[in-house]
Amino acid sequence: MGVKNVGYRPARWDSSYFPGILKGMWITIKHFFSKKYTVSYPEEKWPVPPGHRGAIRLNKDEQGRIKCVACEMCSTACPAKCITMKAGVAPWPDRDKYPVEFRIDMLRCILCGMCQEACPEEAIELTEIYDFSAHSREALIWDKERLLRNWDITADGKYFERSKTETGM
Ligand code: SF4
Ligand code: SF4
Repeated sequence: MGVKNVGYRPARWDSSYFPGILKGMWITIKHFFSKKYTVSYPEEKWPVPPGHRGAIRLNKDEQGRIKCVACEMCSTACPAKCITMKAGVAPWPDRDKYPVEFRIDMLRCILCGMCQEACPEEAIELTEIYDFSAHSREALIWDKERLLRNWDITADGKYFERSKTETGM
């Protein structure tokens, strides 16, 4: 007894390929005139939504001084144990200590934001910077100067308006 073939059998119109070709052309034409979502990275950067947790910065006060008072609350709260610092006597009369050295190992950082939550001085924050890859592991261990530079390029909220060359990222 023969088995009845119930597989797909294209209609005469379908087997001419015209419906498929017309449908494909329609999709192409539609996207040609619709809003573009591609960006010319890295010259152009895709703005991230508010609250994005990216590269960390150390904040400065109105006088341009580092805000951190080396209390070590952030390093204590950090689940990845990637923050280290060396405290010294502050050269300013309004605080006892400041970080002589401050280092974050971005290879270990999980961008959780716990350091920002723990800081009593609003001295450490995560930023909108998401493109901070490097060619060596050493380049992703950020010192105080690098973390303060992240403040310089993000403090005005115009990081995405500037070019890659200008930000130096
Ligand atoms: S974001 Fe999280 S993992 Fe990264 S330094 Fe802060 S507390 Fe540590
Ligand atoms: S918690 Fe804030 S003030 Fe304290 S060491 Fe960390 S960054 Fe500095």
